[in-house]
Amino acid sequence: MSVVGIDLGNLQAVIAVARNRGIDVICNEVSNRATPSLLSFGQKQRFIGESAKTQEISNFKNTIGSLKRLAGRSLNDPEVQEIEKTYILSQLADVQGQVGVEVNYLNEKHSFSNVQLLAMYLGKLKETTSVEIKGPVSDCVITCPGWFSEVQRRAILDAAEIAGLNCLRLVNDLTAAALGYGITKTDLPEEKAKNVVFVDVGHSSYSASVVSFVKGQLNVRGTAYDQHFGGREFDQVIVDKLAAEFKEKYKIDVYSNAKALLRLRVAAERCKKVLSANPQAPVNIESIMDDKDVSTIVNRTDFEEWAAHLFTRTEVTLKKVLENAGLTVEDIDSVEIVGGTSRIPAIKTTISKFFNKEISTTLNQDEAVSRGAALQCAMLSPVFKVRDFRVNDIVTYPIKFQCEPTPEDKDTEFVVFDRNNSIPSTKILTFFRSEPFTLEAYYTNPEDLPRGTKPWIAQFNIKNVAPVNKAPAQVKVKVRMNIHGILTVESAYTVEEKVVDEEVKNKDGEKEIKKVKKLVKTGELPVVSSNTSISRELLNEYTEKESQMASNDKLIVATEAAKNSLEEYGYDMRDKILGPYSDYIHPDVKDSFASDLNAVVDWIYEDGEDATKSEYLEKLTKLKNVGNPVVERFREAEERPRAERSLRAMC
Ligand code: ATP
Ligand code: MG
Repeated sequence: MSVVGIDLGNLQAVIAVARNRGIDVICNEVSNRATPSLLSFGQKQRFIGESAKTQEISNFKNTIGSLKRLAGRSLNDPEVQEIEKTYILSQLADVQGQVGVEVNYLNEKHSFSNVQLLAMYLGKLKETTSVEIKGPVSDCVITCPGWFSEVQRRAILDAAEIAGLNCLRLVNDLTAAALGYGITKTDLPEEKAKNVVFVDVGHSSYSASVVSFVKGQLNVRGTAYDQHFGGREFDQVIVDKLAAEFKEKYKIDVYSNAKALLRLRVAAERCKKVLSANPQAPVNIESIMDDKDVSTIVNRTDFEEWAAHLFTRTEVTLKKVLENAGLTVEDIDSVEIVGGTSRIPAIKTTISKFFNKEISTTLNQDEAVSRGAALQCAMLSPVFKVRDFRVNDIVTYPIKFQCEPTPEDKDTEFVVFDRNNSIPSTKILTFFRSEPFTLEAYYTNPEDLPRGTKPWIAQFNIKNVAPVNKAPAQVKVKVRMNIHGILTVESAYTVEEKVVDEEVKNKDGEKEIKKVKKLVKTGELPVVSSNTSISRELLNEYTEKESQMASNDKLIVATEAAKNSLEEYGYDMRDKILGPYSDYIHPDVKDSFASDLNAVVDWIYEDGEDATKSEYLEKLTKLKNVGNPVVERFREAEERPRAERSLRAMC
């Protein structure tokens, strides 16, 4: 059974697995420890991760990233129209009410929703993991930002299901990092908690979390987020400045040419990274557009000036996180940073100055989140034994229920899970009802939600409710903020006050039976819920399509491999029958075999360019029928003197 943690980043994902009594971050097919969150659609197949990255510029119209930011969004969402659209060059489309893309795939127009896109990407991560651990992958823990609302979380879980992953927990990024931190610390205090601030500045967002550690557990005390603060905003600042400079200097408008803009983005990101370690960074792009080469030098001081509006925002989230945790700077014992963008020196300095502390370097900045997720998976998986460690996370957005009033029950709106309520947790609500009723769950403060998120979360219909002795029945509804940070109703049932016999101890300490009034469960009630997940039918349809596309991709890879083997065999044999195999092939056969080999090699470049796997295999078999006996004779002749030599040595 697999134990896998996936840090699902907007730019890249990092995968960690538990094995050999430790946690390892695994490498992908090109030996990178992070896999680009990109998909590219081609004429014959899909390219996912690294192979999509290589097509990012050449096939930009059919390449899509920002998968995580699109999760749970619709096309008309202001976040999509005003923000995500500026980072995506493929055609965004409405797909069954979700935002998706319209791309040219298999030489036809195809639309895929964000859930499908995420599923494709997760499927690739699953495959990468499976290759690495040499076994099947199913159980995993996936991370998401703490500010993700229910609809976004459900989109990831739906995608995981389509990809055949069993997500044991959708855990908040920083909670995963905190778990990795806490479980390895052997010196956590028994009583007075150690307060650690975790800060993640990634590609698209910025999160901060105050976590209190005592021996054997962590409690998230408060969180704060800047949902639009990450590496891509800094890249954009450089892109804007350089585009203006190039317009002036070279008379080119980079914004009018999608490829030129993409190439400038790549150069801007590189420049930003160089500036994290150097005072200056050169930018050179050959033939960016109109056959013009551009070059310039960016100073770190320029960059800091250009991005000053972002740097001043760094502190806001830090203030907020302390406020939400109800702590002050003096209460903080340690500060840990993760995420690529926290490498920018000005950000590091701001964090360090704010907390008046050196930043600790306990965690691996790029891998801490995935490692924590793998640990969480190990803790939830039956196959692994991990030291006991409790993870008490908290609700980001308060949730309320609404229901119809009745003469007995006028309380029609009430908060069920307030801010900082722990995750997971269960509450039992009581209602007095004579007939079936409906509970509607909403976020209490829509203004706090990610922009454009609808406050409605779910509807629960409590069925089969009927009066008891002409009076309203007492109904208990068990609601749960589950381990993924998703609201569910676990069960509903009726209770009645009944007189029951109970064994009690009297004052002499002797057991005796006493009649007591008690609430007794009298029946289960069916609950029908609807929520923001995609429908089961759609999920099944997507799963079916995904498996077709995945088998098509596999077939393309296998066909390509068969073609390569045929080509390699053709060239290799053609040379060898004139060289080392020459004496082992009958002269009558030699010429015709040589011409067959030539014909096959020519065919591959002409009519056989796009043949089927079986055609390649068939041709290879035919050639081998002639070639194998030749190779055999050659080997035997080679072996003979060696065998004779060793026989002589033995005598
Ligand atoms: P998110 O957490 O927002 O979903 P992510 O997890 O994919 O995104 P990370 O991998 O944490 O993001 O960080 C990637 C970002 O960090 C990119 O914008 C990248 O340019 C930036 N980055 C990486 N190294 C450096 C560096 N040395 N200096 C500045 N920025 C860097
Ligand atoms: Mg991240």
